[in-house]
Order: sequence, then C-alpha cells, then structure tokens
Amino acid sequence: MNQVIELIQADVKKPKPKASELGFGKYFTDHMFVLDYEKEKGWHSPRIAPYQPLTLDPSALVFHYGQSVFEGLKAYRTEDGRVLLFRPEKNVQRLNNTCKRMCIPPLDEELVLEGLQQLIEIEKDWVPDQEGTSLYIRPFIIATEPYLGVRPSNSYKFLIILSPVGAYYAGQLSPVKIYVENDYVRAIKGGVGHVKTSGNYAASLLAQKKAEELGYDQVLWLDGRERKYVEEVGSMNIFFKINGEVFTPKLNGSILSGITRDSVIELLKDWGVTVREERIAIEDIYTAYTKGELEEVFGTGTAAVISPVGELNWNNHKMIVNNFETGEFSLKLYHAITNIQYGKAHDKFGWTVEIK
Ligand SMILES: *Cc1c(COP(=O)(O)O)cnc(C)c1O
Repeated sequence: MNQVIELIQADVKKPKPKASELGFGKYFTDHMFVLDYEKEKGWHSPRIAPYQPLTLDPSALVFHYGQSVFEGLKAYRTEDGRVLLFRPEKNVQRLNNTCKRMCIPPLDEELVLEGLQQLIEIEKDWVPDQEGTSLYIRPFIIATEPYLGVRPSNSYKFLIILSPVGAYYAGQLSPVKIYVENDYVRAIKGGVGHVKTSGNYAASLLAQKKAEELGYDQVLWLDGRERKYVEEVGSMNIFFKINGEVFTPKLNGSILSGITRDSVIELLKDWGVTVREERIAIEDIYTAYTKGELEEVFGTGTAAVISPVGELNWNNHKMIVNNFETGEFSLKLYHAITNIQYGKAHDKFGWTVEIK
C-alpha cells in the first residue's frame, strides 16, 4: 500500500436515529470511502468523502449488464466503548475473489482494509451501543464506463457505505419457517453462485416472494441440475444436526463461502463436535426426520449470526424441527460468536480487529 487516503469532511452532520428506530439498512452515516478505477491509472484516488448521491451516465455498464459486486460485515460496540470488526480480512479476500469471477480488476487488500478502518474511526459515534445493535458495513463495486457493448468495463467505482442497524432478534432467537424450492434455482456450478454479485439476489426475488405468499420466511435452494441436493438459504448457509453430528453442504462451486459458516465449523470442531462438509440430499434430511434423528437445523450469516429453523417444507412434507424451538447448538454457537464480536469473551481465534 503506497497510496494516501484523503479526507474530505462533511459540512453538515446528520442527527443519529434512536436505537429503537434503526431497523436494517435505512440510515447512512456522514461519510463514505471511495476509490476509482481507470484502465490507464489502475485503482486510484482513495478518499473518505461526504456521503452523497453518485452521478453516473445512463449508459454506465452496471445498469445494463450487472457488473456489480458487494460485501457485508459489521462493526460492534463493546461494553467498554471500543469498536471491533469480525474477520474483516476474510471479506476483503472474498471481495477480490468475486472481482476475479466478474472481470473486475483486483483491489489492494491492504488499502481496502486501511480505508475501512479509517472510515469507521471517523464514524465511530455512529456505532450504536444498545444490545444487539451494530454498524453494518457495505463495500461494493460498480462498472461505470458509458458504453453499451457487452464486455468488462474500463472504469469502476469502489465504495464503502455504513448503516447503523438494530438488533436482529428482539430478545430470544426465533426459529424461522423455510420453504424448500423445487422449481426455481439459484445457481449452478460454473456460474456465479459462489461469489457475491448483485444478480444472484435479483434472480432470487421471485422465489422469495412465492415462499412468503405460502407463509414461509425464506427459501432453501436445491442444486440447479437435479433439485436433489441442499445448497443454502437466502443469504445464509445451512447446517443440520443429525444424531449428534453436524452436516453442512460442502463448497461445491455454487454455494457462497460464508464467513459465519467458516467460524461455526471452527467453533464446533474446537468443541469436539464432528462436522461433515458433504453433498447432502434433501431426501436424506427427510429420512433422518422421519426416523426422529433430525435434531437441529440452522442458517448462518452476518445478519442473524445463527437463525434456527423451526420448519422445513419439502414437496408438502412438513418437517417440524426440535418442536419449533431453538436448539442447543444454535444457542451455544450464537452466544459464542456474538460474545467474541462484542468483546465479551476471550477471542482465542484472533478473529476481532479493534478500531484505534
Ligand atoms: C453473504 C452470503 C452468505 C453469508 O455469508 P457471511 O459471510 O456468513 O455473511 C450466504 N449466502 C449468500 C448467498 C450470501 O450472499
């Protein structure tokens, strides 16, 4: 890293919303981090600038062919007022991995991490301190070149914006109802399901809407070829506890490699639990259920950390998991991870980074 990050202060500071009004992704802080790319200059002009609308040409490539990628992570306020990030280097590595697949030139990971930390330091007062709240961090890249031909853009903008968010759970963890989707598919091997590109989400909206209309919270995707094997849930990876062992789909080229997934696997192994990363047939989940061996199901992701699953509906086979109650592993993992994130527990894995 040899670039200096310029600071352009916002003239007017916005009032901060009350913790009870935060919700998710509704409020944005006073500043953002910006980096530009031009073919001749590479990534250049790193700066922290006032949060403001962008001006883009209507022909900018991002609007037409979806060359757009993103990340998501959080900053957490500890009881003694410090601010911690959780494994941010993993997000930056994953961003570059996504860039590679989407033909976007790679970023200097050190510069991005430095920009991220400086931005949060400047916006420290925006990190809320009520139980369960956090500052959501959204890095993203868009193709900005005005051009209608189909090819990788010659110019890009990288931005990091920040949004204070409320607690995901009001009190206890609450199990969700999941609809196993048999018609629509999310991704196939060779496609872009394993990277965080915006189009994956656009492609998922209709199935999500259908699940909601049927009274479910989220979709569980099956593999795109045979609709036989479990992939993941909405924006979460999925885990099953069967007969005391934990199963999760292996990273097969169409599943997103969640950082929460990785942390859960490390923690479980540390606790001496057998974790099997395998290809998992939905039929085998149903068989385990009918035999009374399906003990717990939960999703993992930055937003919820752990989301217990209380019901799975596959082809009208309704599986009520653990009496629609939060399971033992779900609860233990939730506390283990959030205690590290909020600085309440010893961080033996070295996962947190303090903002100085
Ligand atoms: C971001 C994301 C996840 C979860 O990843 P985390 O790093 O744990 O937040 C899972 N699935 C999809 C499709 C995602 O986009």
